[in-house]
This record gives sequence, C-alpha cells and structure tokens, in this order.
Amino acid sequence: MASIIDGKAAAELVRGAVKVRAEAFLQQHGRSPSLHVVLVGDDPASQVYVRNKELAAHKASISGLVHRLPIATTQAQLLTKVQGLSADPAIDGILVQLPLPKHLDEQSIIACLDPQKDVDGLHPYNAGLLMVGRPGLRPCTPSGCMHLIEAAGCDPAGKHAVVIGRSILVGKPIALMLLEKNATVTIAHSKTADLMSVVRQADIVVAAVGRADLVKGSWLKPGAVVIDVGINKKSDGKLCGDVDFAEAMAVAGHVTPVPGGVGPMTIAWLLANTVLAAERRAMS
Ligand code: NAD
Repeated sequence: MASIIDGKAAAELVRGAVKVRAEAFLQQHGRSPSLHVVLVGDDPASQVYVRNKELAAHKASISGLVHRLPIATTQAQLLTKVQGLSADPAIDGILVQLPLPKHLDEQSIIACLDPQKDVDGLHPYNAGLLMVGRPGLRPCTPSGCMHLIEAAGCDPAGKHAVVIGRSILVGKPIALMLLEKNATVTIAHSKTADLMSVVRQADIVVAAVGRADLVKGSWLKPGAVVIDVGINKKSDGKLCGDVDFAEAMAVAGHVTPVPGGVGPMTIAWLLANTVLAAERRAMS
C-alpha cells in the first residue's frame, strides 16, 4: 500500500515560512511584499482560484489587489493595464489569471510583464533562465511538484521520470526541473505511442494531462512516486486527478491525492515567488 503525499501539510509549512519572510521584509523595508492579480471576465472557476489566492496572500502577510476587468477588455487595454502594473515600483508580483478569454493573446500579454514580477514564471525570460539552469522565477505548479517529490524522500538523481503532458505551464518546466536534479526524463504527450509501456518504466510519474483516471494502476512500476497534477470533474461533481487513485495506491510507493496534493502547493509557491520577487527587487 502506497503512502499518501500530503500536499496540504507540505503547503502549510511553505506558507508558514513565507509569512516569516514577508514579515521580515515589512520590518526591513516598511512595506509588505505585494501581489497584484489581473482577472479578465467572469469565468466561475477563475473567480474561485483568484479568491483563494487573495485569501492565501492575506494570511501570509502579503498585500495586494485583484484587478477585475470586464470580458470585453481589448488586447490593447489589457496590455496597458499590465504595463502599468509592471512600471509601478510598489508592486512586486503580477499574475494574469489564465486562461484569458479567447479574443486575447496570452503569450503577448505575458511577454509584456516585467520578468522580475512574473510570479507565475511564464515570461520567456524566466523560461529561458530555467532552460539554462539559472535561478529565476519558476512556474508554481512544477516547483510545488518538485517539493512534493523531495518530501516523499525521493532523490530524482538516476531515476527514470516520465512526465505526461508538455504544456508550458506544467509539463515542459517540470521535465527541466527533474533533469536539473539528474533524473533521466521522458516527456510523453497526446501523440506518444503505447503510453502504458512508457509509464511502466517510470520511477517517478508526473501526470499533467486533464483526463480523469487516464493512468491505471497496472501502468505503474511497483514503488513509483506518482504526482498527479490533473484536476478533472467527475459526473457526480467530485474532483479527481489523471491517475486512478485507488489503483495507484495498491501499486505505487507514494501518491498525491486530488484534491489535497499538488493544488495547495501551487498557491503556496505563488506566495513564495512573490516574497522572492520582493526580496530580489529590494536588492537590485
Ligand atoms: P494542457 O491542456 O495545456 O496540456 C495537456 C497535455 O496533455 C498536452 O501537452 C497534451 O499533449 C497531453 N495529453 C492530452 N491527451 C493526452 C493523452 N491521451 N495521453 C498523453 N498525453 C495527453 O494542460 P495543463 O495546463 O498542462 O494542465 C494539465 C492538467 O493539470 C489539467 O487538468 C489542469 O487543470 C491541471 N493543473 C493543475 C494545477 C494544480 O495546481 N493542481 C495547475 C495547473 C494545471
């Protein structure tokens, strides 16, 4: 029987450490680290995510504001907004809540962020720093996944890691982070042939697809560390991941649950990145 990797408990520890640093920053600089979130439109899931981020920031002694813009906001208006926040010296972190409404071009909005304030770690400059192995602001979800892998007592060095999914948000950055820690990394995706055989070789599986229970227990190597990033809604309204949790528990060594695994770590890392951005900006 696998052990459950408790993302809530791990996130609580990260948030506690962030709060200590945020309070030290206030003492030293006379202001709290600040996070500004831009939310365009009225997508219900995005509204919940933003509200959760707002509450978590407040609890961690991070100040900030949510800028709620109407769905009719144009590309030019959003660019002006983000450029304004980037230029404001009192703001340390900026997050543009994704996905944006279809008429807006996410990549060019992200590219106009000040990379020093890009707490989502999605700006091409920060993606480049990750690529060359230098410290920068790194994407929150993959950073949280790495923390959970280490919290499970797993050193990726020499292990075979299979990442399912190749998005800029999760799959590609976590593959680079695992490589940085000396894992042998395979990136699988929608065109991968015989996914089951690929996954079966993995000591570490990171599933970031968005398909309920795609990964079966029979696909897993006994003792594998399984990090389930997926968030899917079942017909009964309950959330589940990309991995069949009950089956994985019978085969794997360590498994993250959904909910209560990667999700809480993502928010904790957003807060950590905000404090890091504030500290770095204060030093530069
Ligand atoms: P995405 O849609 O951008 O990417 C999905 C990836 O899965 C693609 O690269 C695609 O090639 C791959 N894929 C699709 N079907 C596949 C299949 N049958 N077999 C193998 N690969 C397949 O999604 P994303 O933004 O990377 O998010 C992935 C999942 O993780 C979603 O469920 C999302 O909600 C969730 N997510 C969770 C958190 C969190 O905090 N827990 C954060 C980000 C994303």
